[in-house]
Amino acid sequence: MDQNGLMEKIVSLCKRRGFVFPSSEIYGGLANAYEYGPAGVELKKNIADAWWQFFVRGRQDMVGLDSSIILHPKTWEASGHVGSFADAMIDCKNCKYRTRADHLIEEALPDMKVEGKTEAELDKIIQDHKIKCPDCGKFDWTSVRRFNLLFETKIGIVEESQSKVYLRGETAQGIFLSFKNILDSTRVRLPFGVGQMGKSFRNEITKGNFIFRTLEFEQAEIEYFFDPEAADWEELFETWKKQMWQFVTKTLGIKEENLRWRAHSDEERSFYSKRTEDMEYNFPFGFKELWGLAYRTDYDLKQHMKFSGADLSYTDPQSGKKIVPHVIEPAVGINRLMAMVLLDAYREDEDRVYLALPPRLAPYKVAVFPLLSNKPQLVEKAKEIFGMLAPHFTTAWDDRGNVGKRYYSQDEIGTPFCITVDFDTVEKDGCVTVRNRDTKEQPRVKIGELKDYISNALR
Ligand code: ATP
Repeated sequence: MDQNGLMEKIVSLCKRRGFVFPSSEIYGGLANAYEYGPAGVELKKNIADAWWQFFVRGRQDMVGLDSSIILHPKTWEASGHVGSFADAMIDCKNCKYRTRADHLIEEALPDMKVEGKTEAELDKIIQDHKIKCPDCGKFDWTSVRRFNLLFETKIGIVEESQSKVYLRGETAQGIFLSFKNILDSTRVRLPFGVGQMGKSFRNEITKGNFIFRTLEFEQAEIEYFFDPEAADWEELFETWKKQMWQFVTKTLGIKEENLRWRAHSDEERSFYSKRTEDMEYNFPFGFKELWGLAYRTDYDLKQHMKFSGADLSYTDPQSGKKIVPHVIEPAVGINRLMAMVLLDAYREDEDRVYLALPPRLAPYKVAVFPLLSNKPQLVEKAKEIFGMLAPHFTTAWDDRGNVGKRYYSQDEIGTPFCITVDFDTVEKDGCVTVRNRDTKEQPRVKIGELKDYISNALR
């Protein structure tokens, strides 16, 4: 399938079927912001829940955390975000098109590596290759400038006493801030991890690729703390790679051929990181970062010790040995996972479009229809079945149009099963047809067996 065409099809399906809407549309929209509609909020939540179950609840060496979006502003000085969480941007003087200099170069010169380059070096590449504005075609750029991605806001009602704070640019720093409280309040022992999921904010200026890159996004991060003398970081790193791969391919059902690992080069990697690798997905605009995995040493805890004066070391309960733990950090955006899940699940048959979502991710697990909406005995029975299933599964109801149209719309949101109540159900056999999204088969199933039938498919 044509890769560009696929993105357009997904964007249009998302709007048509209530997955994702452009934000603030009645006011003309807001770039890089989206709303998650009735189907989208369910899908996003299911992906988030699957992550939490797999990485936090399902492991004996992990605990969870929900820290504040607005943290003490010193946090971001200590972490380096105030000083260097910046992108290089450039403006077209002719048409005022603004873009990230690295993206401009990468799009024009796909083999050019730009990570870690200075503003002057980026300027030189653009000048040397006479890269034109993708919007107006002119070659008339400003010089490259850095700008910080942190959103600033203020605490305080009276202007004179307001103090500047930031909306968090990542969830990870909150984990380091609560590290001591977690040690003191739980029975965790090294090695252990803390998982956190929540909104992060970045002042992204580029034209996004749908929900791949947005101003605010749901981030899911883990800090896995360990003693580098007791555990081999390379082995731990490999274990995390396997875990992430398993989650993406098995739990999210993504095709392996659309995934790959890419190690960061020395220039690209942060100076404190010993190894960073990105799991990349083959998006319609190329293989791009899906999920970052970084060995960050003891950099963050030490920085917060320095800036706060607090002791963030760990004392081994048996040996009494005191250390500042090192961390491995897997960091992903749930929205980016959702973009991938939608792209990967998109299917076109001769006469229909459907999303082959893993059933546990599907917004609705089952839809219930009365064959005809003007026959009270069918409607009543269908409502009874809806009431029986709804406490156990997200259940959709549809009595509009004909059954074919209802299948069509459920296929487009990836509902694995559609149940139709017909005259045989009420007059003869007490069975309903259960139409399978992928095979289109329609076995008849006894009403009393429906719950087990659907539960089995969700395992
Ligand atoms: P990129 O190079 O794509 O800007 P990054 O390297 O800055 O990403 P990290 O800081 O490593 O990203 O963030 C970890 C993860 O958070 C990313 O792998 C991605 O899944 C997600 N993420 C980061 N920025 C955004 C964003 N603006 N919108 C959606 N998801 C994001």
